[in-house]
Amino acid sequence: MLIGGIEAGGTKMVCAVGDENGVIKDRTSFPTRQPEETFADMIAYYKNWDIQALGIGCFGPVDLNRQSRTYGYITKTPKPGWGNCDIVGAFKDALGVPVGFDTDVNGAVLGEVTWGAARGLDSAIYITIGTGVGVGVYVNGGLLHGLVHPEGGHILLIRHPKDTYEGKCPFHKNCVEGLAAGPSIEARWGKKAAELADRDEVWEMEAYYIAQAITDYILSYSPQKIILWGGVMHQEKLFGMVRKEVLNLLNGYVAHEAITEHIDQYIVPPALGEDPGIMGAIKLGLDALG
Ligand code: ADP
Ligand code: ZN
Repeated sequence: MLIGGIEAGGTKMVCAVGDENGVIKDRTSFPTRQPEETFADMIAYYKNWDIQALGIGCFGPVDLNRQSRTYGYITKTPKPGWGNCDIVGAFKDALGVPVGFDTDVNGAVLGEVTWGAARGLDSAIYITIGTGVGVGVYVNGGLLHGLVHPEGGHILLIRHPKDTYEGKCPFHKNCVEGLAAGPSIEARWGKKAAELADRDEVWEMEAYYIAQAITDYILSYSPQKIILWGGVMHQEKLFGMVRKEVLNLLNGYVAHEAITEHIDQYIVPPALGEDPGIMGAIKLGLDALG
Protein backbone atom coordinates (compact mmCIF):
# COMPACT_ATOMS: atom_id res chain seq x y z
CA MET A 1 0.00 0.00 0.00
CA LEU A 2 1.30 3.46 -0.87
CA ILE A 3 0.64 6.54 1.24
CA GLY A 4 1.67 10.12 0.47
CA GLY A 5 3.25 12.35 3.09
CA ILE A 6 3.82 16.09 2.80
CA GLU A 7 5.92 18.26 5.08
CA ALA A 8 4.55 21.67 4.20
CA GLY A 9 7.02 24.40 5.10
CA GLY A 10 7.29 28.11 4.47
CA THR A 11 10.32 27.70 2.20
CA LYS A 12 9.84 24.22 0.75
CA MET A 13 7.29 21.48 0.39
CA VAL A 14 8.74 18.02 0.92
CA CYS A 15 6.62 15.38 -0.81
CA ALA A 16 7.18 11.67 -0.19
CA VAL A 17 5.56 8.35 -0.93
CA GLY A 18 5.89 5.60 1.63
CA ASP A 19 4.27 2.40 2.75
CA GLU A 20 2.35 1.34 5.86
CA ASN A 21 5.64 0.50 7.61
CA GLY A 22 7.01 3.99 7.13
CA VAL A 23 9.46 2.91 4.42
CA ILE A 24 9.96 5.84 2.09
CA LYS A 25 9.89 4.81 -1.59
CA ASP A 26 10.40 8.18 -3.18
CA ARG A 27 10.65 11.84 -2.29
CA THR A 28 11.05 15.24 -3.87
CA SER A 29 10.61 18.85 -2.87
CA PHE A 30 9.27 22.03 -4.41
CA PRO A 31 10.00 25.61 -3.38
CA THR A 32 7.04 27.26 -1.65
CA ARG A 33 5.70 29.99 -3.96
CA GLN A 34 2.05 31.04 -4.19
CA PRO A 35 -0.37 28.25 -3.23
CA GLU A 36 -1.82 27.64 -6.68
CA GLU A 37 1.44 27.03 -8.54
CA THR A 38 3.03 25.19 -5.60
CA PHE A 39 0.04 22.83 -5.26
CA ALA A 40 -0.01 22.23 -9.04
CA ASP A 41 3.56 20.84 -8.89
CA MET A 42 2.78 18.70 -5.86
CA ILE A 43 -0.44 17.31 -7.33
CA ALA A 44 1.34 16.47 -10.60
CA TYR A 45 3.93 14.54 -8.55
CA TYR A 46 1.32 12.48 -6.71
CA LYS A 47 -0.60 11.73 -9.92
CA ASN A 48 2.36 9.48 -10.82
CA TRP A 49 1.74 7.30 -7.76
CA ASP A 50 -1.21 5.15 -6.81
CA ILE A 51 -1.53 6.46 -3.25
CA GLN A 52 -4.40 5.32 -1.04
CA ALA A 53 -4.25 8.31 1.33
CA LEU A 54 -2.25 11.46 1.99
CA GLY A 55 -1.03 13.05 5.22
CA ILE A 56 0.05 16.68 5.60
CA GLY A 57 2.14 18.10 8.45
CA CYS A 58 1.84 21.82 7.92
CA PHE A 59 3.35 25.13 9.00
CA GLY A 60 0.81 27.11 10.96
CA PRO A 61 -1.31 28.35 12.36
CA VAL A 62 -3.80 25.84 10.99
CA ASP A 63 -7.42 24.91 11.70
CA LEU A 64 -7.58 21.35 13.09
CA ASN A 65 -11.17 21.48 14.29
CA ARG A 66 -13.20 19.06 12.20
CA GLN A 67 -16.44 20.88 13.07
CA SER A 68 -15.10 24.15 11.73
CA ARG A 69 -15.99 25.61 8.34
CA THR A 70 -12.29 26.25 7.79
CA TYR A 71 -11.01 22.81 8.91
CA GLY A 72 -7.85 21.98 6.97
CA TYR A 73 -6.98 25.60 6.28
CA ILE A 74 -3.79 27.50 6.98
CA THR A 75 -5.39 30.39 8.87
CA LYS A 76 -3.74 33.66 9.88
CA THR A 77 -0.16 33.30 8.66
CA PRO A 78 1.70 36.50 7.79
CA LYS A 79 3.18 34.65 4.79
CA PRO A 80 1.85 36.55 1.75
CA GLY A 81 -0.77 34.64 -0.23
CA TRP A 82 -1.08 31.80 2.29
CA GLY A 83 -3.55 33.21 4.80
CA ASN A 84 -6.96 31.47 4.76
CA CYS A 85 -5.67 28.78 2.37
CA ASP A 86 -7.58 25.48 2.06
CA ILE A 87 -4.62 23.12 1.76
CA VAL A 88 -6.53 19.94 2.69
CA GLY A 89 -9.34 20.74 0.26
CA ALA A 90 -6.91 21.35 -2.60
CA PHE A 91 -5.41 17.84 -2.31
CA LYS A 92 -8.65 16.05 -1.48
CA ASP A 93 -10.33 17.45 -4.58
CA ALA A 94 -7.40 16.82 -6.90
CA LEU A 95 -6.40 13.33 -5.72
CA GLY A 96 -9.69 11.90 -4.43
CA VAL A 97 -8.12 10.18 -1.41
CA PRO A 98 -8.56 10.66 2.36
CA VAL A 99 -6.28 13.41 3.71
CA GLY A 100 -4.88 13.48 7.27
CA PHE A 101 -3.80 16.86 8.60
CA ASP A 102 -1.92 18.30 11.56
CA THR A 103 0.83 20.77 12.42
CA ASP A 104 4.38 20.06 11.21
CA VAL A 105 5.60 19.48 14.78
CA ASN A 106 2.65 17.27 15.71
CA GLY A 107 3.52 15.30 12.57
CA ALA A 108 7.13 15.01 13.75
CA VAL A 109 6.21 13.76 17.22
CA LEU A 110 3.83 11.25 15.62
CA GLY A 111 6.65 9.97 13.39
CA GLU A 112 8.92 9.45 16.41
CA VAL A 113 6.14 7.81 18.44
CA THR A 114 5.28 5.44 15.59
CA TRP A 115 8.73 4.50 14.28
CA GLY A 116 11.39 6.40 16.24
CA ALA A 117 12.78 7.30 19.65
CA ALA A 118 9.37 7.35 21.38
CA ARG A 119 8.05 4.16 19.78
CA GLY A 120 5.44 2.48 21.93
CA LEU A 121 5.15 5.36 24.41
CA ASP A 122 1.88 7.13 24.99
CA SER A 123 3.25 10.60 25.78
CA ALA A 124 6.11 12.44 24.13
CA ILE A 125 7.02 15.85 22.84
CA TYR A 126 9.08 16.99 19.86
CA ILE A 127 10.84 20.34 20.02
CA THR A 128 12.55 21.98 17.07
CA ILE A 129 14.92 24.89 17.62
CA GLY A 130 15.52 26.22 14.12
CA THR A 131 14.38 29.30 12.23
CA GLY A 132 11.53 29.26 14.72
CA VAL A 133 10.72 27.11 17.72
CA GLY A 134 7.91 24.56 17.49
CA VAL A 135 6.62 21.94 19.88
CA GLY A 136 4.54 18.90 18.93
CA VAL A 137 2.65 17.25 21.77
CA TYR A 138 1.46 13.63 21.96
CA VAL A 139 -0.35 12.82 25.21
CA ASN A 140 -2.33 9.80 26.40
CA GLY A 141 -2.00 8.18 22.99
CA GLY A 142 -3.06 11.10 20.79
CA LEU A 143 -1.90 14.39 19.33
CA LEU A 144 -2.88 17.38 21.42
CA HIS A 145 -5.02 20.01 19.71
CA GLY A 146 -7.17 21.65 22.37
CA LEU A 147 -8.67 25.02 21.48
CA VAL A 148 -6.39 25.57 18.47
CA HIS A 149 -3.09 23.68 18.87
CA PRO A 150 -0.27 24.14 21.35
CA GLU A 151 2.18 26.96 20.63
CA GLY A 152 5.00 25.86 22.90
CA GLY A 153 7.53 27.94 20.99
CA HIS A 154 6.02 31.08 22.49
CA ILE A 155 5.94 30.25 26.19
CA LEU A 156 7.51 33.00 28.24
CA LEU A 157 10.92 32.64 29.85
CA ILE A 158 12.92 34.29 32.58
CA ARG A 159 15.62 36.32 30.92
CA HIS A 160 19.26 35.34 31.47
CA PRO A 161 20.82 37.95 33.79
CA LYS A 162 23.53 38.71 31.21
CA ASP A 163 21.19 38.93 28.20
CA THR A 164 20.71 42.45 26.89
CA TYR A 165 19.16 41.41 23.56
CA GLU A 166 15.52 42.53 23.35
CA GLY A 167 14.20 39.37 21.59
CA LYS A 168 13.07 38.71 18.03
CA CYS A 169 9.40 37.75 18.39
CA PRO A 170 7.08 40.59 17.33
CA PHE A 171 4.43 39.36 19.81
CA HIS A 172 6.43 38.71 22.99
CA LYS A 173 9.56 40.23 24.49
CA ASN A 174 10.79 37.04 26.15
CA CYS A 175 9.40 33.91 24.50
CA VAL A 176 11.47 30.83 23.54
CA GLU A 177 11.37 31.60 19.83
CA GLY A 178 12.30 35.24 20.34
CA LEU A 179 15.24 34.45 22.63
CA ALA A 180 16.51 31.05 21.47
CA ALA A 181 15.70 30.36 17.78
CA GLY A 182 18.59 30.54 15.28
CA PRO A 183 17.83 34.07 14.02
CA SER A 184 17.72 35.43 17.59
CA ILE A 185 21.13 33.90 18.39
CA GLU A 186 22.48 35.54 15.24
CA ALA A 187 20.91 38.92 16.05
CA ARG A 188 22.18 38.84 19.66
CA TRP A 189 25.79 37.94 18.85
CA GLY A 190 26.07 39.45 15.35
CA LYS A 191 27.29 36.26 13.64
CA LYS A 192 25.94 33.07 12.06
CA ALA A 193 25.13 30.56 14.81
CA ALA A 194 27.43 27.93 13.26
CA GLU A 195 30.33 30.41 13.47
CA LEU A 196 29.81 30.91 17.20
CA ALA A 197 30.65 27.27 17.99
CA ASP A 198 33.63 28.06 20.25
CA ARG A 199 31.95 30.87 22.24
CA ASP A 200 30.95 29.22 25.54
CA GLU A 201 28.77 32.12 26.71
CA VAL A 202 26.56 31.75 23.61
CA TRP A 203 25.71 28.12 24.34
CA GLU A 204 25.46 28.56 28.08
CA MET A 205 22.74 31.19 27.50
CA GLU A 206 21.10 29.04 24.81
CA ALA A 207 21.01 25.97 27.09
CA TYR A 208 19.55 28.09 29.89
CA TYR A 209 16.63 29.10 27.65
CA ILE A 210 16.00 25.69 26.08
CA ALA A 211 16.15 24.03 29.53
CA GLN A 212 13.63 26.48 30.99
CA ALA A 213 11.20 25.66 28.19
CA ILE A 214 11.74 21.91 28.59
CA THR A 215 11.26 22.17 32.35
CA ASP A 216 7.89 23.82 31.77
CA TYR A 217 6.87 21.14 29.24
CA ILE A 218 7.87 18.39 31.69
CA LEU A 219 5.80 20.00 34.41
CA SER A 220 2.81 20.62 32.11
CA TYR A 221 2.63 17.54 29.86
CA SER A 222 4.58 14.89 31.81
CA PRO A 223 6.11 13.43 28.62
CA GLN A 224 7.81 10.02 28.71
CA LYS A 225 10.34 11.16 26.11
CA ILE A 226 11.57 14.52 24.85
CA ILE A 227 12.90 14.68 21.32
CA LEU A 228 14.95 17.77 20.67
CA TRP A 229 16.12 18.83 17.20
CA GLY A 230 16.32 21.67 14.66
CA GLY A 231 19.30 23.43 13.07
CA VAL A 232 20.54 24.94 16.35
CA MET A 233 20.91 21.46 17.88
CA HIS A 234 23.68 20.76 15.39
CA GLN A 235 25.72 22.20 18.27
CA GLU A 236 25.65 18.77 19.86
CA LYS A 237 27.27 19.93 23.09
CA LEU A 238 23.94 21.61 23.81
CA PHE A 239 22.35 18.25 24.63
CA GLY A 240 24.52 17.72 27.69
CA MET A 241 24.23 21.34 28.77
CA VAL A 242 20.44 21.30 28.44
CA ARG A 243 20.08 18.03 30.37
CA LYS A 244 22.21 19.38 33.21
CA GLU A 245 20.26 22.63 33.39
CA VAL A 246 16.91 20.80 33.33
CA LEU A 247 18.03 18.75 36.37
CA ASN A 248 19.10 21.96 38.02
CA LEU A 249 15.79 23.74 37.35
CA LEU A 250 13.59 20.78 38.36
CA ASN A 251 15.68 20.52 41.53
CA GLY A 252 14.49 16.98 42.22
CA TYR A 253 10.81 17.86 42.09
CA VAL A 254 9.82 15.30 39.42
CA ALA A 255 11.48 12.38 41.16
CA HIS A 256 11.11 9.77 38.43
CA GLU A 257 14.22 7.76 37.60
CA ALA A 258 13.71 8.39 33.86
CA ILE A 259 14.78 11.94 34.71
CA THR A 260 16.92 11.64 37.83
CA GLU A 261 18.92 8.57 36.66
CA HIS A 262 18.56 8.34 32.88
CA ILE A 263 18.20 11.84 31.52
CA ASP A 264 20.62 10.91 28.68
CA GLN A 265 17.86 8.66 27.32
CA TYR A 266 15.07 11.07 28.24
CA ILE A 267 16.10 14.16 26.27
CA VAL A 268 17.32 12.83 22.94
CA PRO A 269 17.74 13.66 19.25
CA PRO A 270 15.27 12.00 16.84
CA ALA A 271 15.87 8.35 15.97
CA LEU A 272 14.55 9.04 12.47
CA GLY A 273 17.35 11.49 11.59
CA GLU A 274 15.99 14.24 9.36
CA ASP A 275 12.78 12.31 8.65
CA PRO A 276 10.44 12.47 11.67
CA GLY A 277 8.27 15.11 9.95
CA ILE A 278 7.88 13.31 6.66
CA MET A 279 7.37 9.90 8.29
CA GLY A 280 4.84 11.44 10.65
CA ALA A 281 3.01 12.87 7.64
CA ILE A 282 2.81 9.35 6.17
CA LYS A 283 1.33 8.14 9.48
CA LEU A 284 -1.20 10.98 9.35
CA GLY A 285 -2.19 9.64 5.93
CA LEU A 286 -2.42 6.06 7.20
CA ASP A 287 -4.61 7.20 10.10
CA ALA A 288 -6.90 9.03 7.65
CA LEU A 289 -7.75 5.65 6.10
CA GLY A 290 -9.59 4.88 9.35
P1 ADP B 1 13.81 25.40 9.81
O1 ADP B 1 13.55 25.75 11.23
O2 ADP B 1 13.59 26.56 8.88
O3 ADP B 1 13.17 24.14 9.36
P2 ADP B 1 16.45 24.47 10.60
O4 ADP B 1 15.86 23.58 11.62
O5 ADP B 1 17.50 23.89 9.69
O6 ADP B 1 15.38 25.14 9.65
O7 ADP B 1 17.09 25.69 11.39
C1 ADP B 1 17.76 26.74 10.76
C2 ADP B 1 18.44 27.57 11.83
O8 ADP B 1 19.39 26.75 12.50
C3 ADP B 1 19.20 28.76 11.28
O9 ADP B 1 18.52 29.93 11.72
C4 ADP B 1 20.58 28.70 11.90
O10 ADP B 1 20.77 29.80 12.71
C5 ADP B 1 20.58 27.48 12.78
N1 ADP B 1 21.72 26.60 12.48
C6 ADP B 1 21.96 25.93 11.34
N2 ADP B 1 23.12 25.23 11.42
C7 ADP B 1 23.63 25.48 12.65
C8 ADP B 1 24.79 25.04 13.36
N3 ADP B 1 25.70 24.25 12.81
N4 ADP B 1 24.95 25.50 14.62
C9 ADP B 1 24.05 26.31 15.19
N5 ADP B 1 22.95 26.75 14.58
C10 ADP B 1 22.72 26.34 13.32
ZN1 ZN C 1 6.64 34.82 20.79
